[in-house]
Amino acid sequence: MRIRALTLFPKMFDCLYESIIGRAIKNGIIDFKAVDIREYSKDKHFKCDDTPYGGGAGMVMTVQPIYDCINAVDPHHEYLRVYMSPKGETLSDKCARGLAACDSLLLLCGHYEGIDQRAIDMCIDREISVGDYVLSGGELAAMTVIDAAARFVDGVLGKNVSHEDESFADGLLEYPQYTRPPVFMGRAVPEVLLNGNHKEIERFRRESSAKLTQERRGDLFAARNDSKNSEGD
Ligand code: SAH
Repeated sequence: MRIRALTLFPKMFDCLYESIIGRAIKNGIIDFKAVDIREYSKDKHFKCDDTPYGGGAGMVMTVQPIYDCINAVDPHHEYLRVYMSPKGETLSDKCARGLAACDSLLLLCGHYEGIDQRAIDMCIDREISVGDYVLSGGELAAMTVIDAAARFVDGVLGKNVSHEDESFADGLLEYPQYTRPPVFMGRAVPEVLLNGNHKEIERFRRESSAKLTQERRGDLFAARNDSKNSEGD
């Protein structure tokens, strides 16, 4: 999968080169580059922002460098072009799976007060938000999207790791996990996990998962029951 992040702060993406995503980049499963929008500015000082028309606080990223950068990276519109924005659709497990299925993903990161609307109107296919709060830039949001989507790309997670057991995969939160030692400061791991009875372990996990989801995320639990009921219709 090809991913390009368009940003004024390409160094912020250095932390993607660690851990699971870092390994996927090293192995060539993810072809990632952070592209510096500033290099495309036609301003003699490479300026990429200006004061907003109509007044108001802060600066707005100008359309020209963004337009030229997107068209240099993606001249034939082969990428799904996403603008990271608090006004976009909220990232979810389903959305991340969908993004992982596209070959080429371009993530445009805004900064300051955002970007000139014409850049969105002329160049962008979709807007995605990482939640109902405002970040100072789209970079952390883009890295969140990259991490969440890359996990669904074949070969990114280790052979024995499945995302189908994880939270949200089946509309539930994951059951609690334990590892050695069996007792820590008097707290023991649930007995059922130690007895090697796979049927019982499976049931314990299913039940804990349902209980946790009902307690913490009534919305997910209700949605799951609704869809189960309608499947039976
Ligand atoms: N003035 C804008 C916010 C700008 S924040 C507004 O009120 O809607 C600066 C940049 O950070 C945005 O251009 C966007 O790229 C990014 N950003 C901020 N919050 C975000 C979120 N919740 N999800 C995705 N990107 C976000």
